[in-house]
Amino acid sequence: MNNDNELLTASLKVAVEHCLARATVLYPLPTNWRASITISCDLRGRAAGKVEVVRHRQQLQSARLRLNLEAARIDWRQTVDETIPHEVAHLVVMSLPRQFDQQPHGHDWQQVCRALGGQGAVRHQLPLARARQPRLWHYRDSHGVGHHLTSVRHHRLQRGQRYQVLASGAWLDASGLVGPVACNTSAFNNP
Ligand SMILES: [Zn+2]
Repeated sequence: MNNDNELLTASLKVAVEHCLARATVLYPLPTNWRASITISCDLRGRAAGKVEVVRHRQQLQSARLRLNLEAARIDWRQTVDETIPHEVAHLVVMSLPRQFDQQPHGHDWQQVCRALGGQGAVRHQLPLARARQPRLWHYRDSHGVGHHLTSVRHHRLQRGQRYQVLASGAWLDASGLVGPVACNTSAFNNP
């Protein structure tokens, strides 16, 4: 990674921290909320940002907020003023009690996004090139532990194959499917 990327990454992380801190002031989030979130700037392709989450019994276990460095390079202000509040708003809504509207870009998401400084826009206008991004699927194994699987494994399981998790001996099969990882619409542009 060159110096330019390092500087951009560090600055983006500061901006995300700022937004997360604001969220914790505004909303009754769990005390370990910040600790459950990691930030990375490794997103490629047309999405400016996205969140990937692991849930257990409807509760958010951990989350990754991913940002696209190229998007930040093209338009820093849009990334800070729109993409970051957009993605943090997803994390907030997913972490609030279930009476909140859990639709990916529903009423409550809009409110939170605006409260965090965003406009509540669902798509961006940045000229980003499309990149092939492997889709991941969230499965729960026979011990109730969550796993992120590639589409190849997902399709094999749905055709009836089973996998054993070597570390625990638990089994994965088609019935363990929870759904696609993340809010796919959270790509902030790329439905
Ligand atoms: Zn979104």
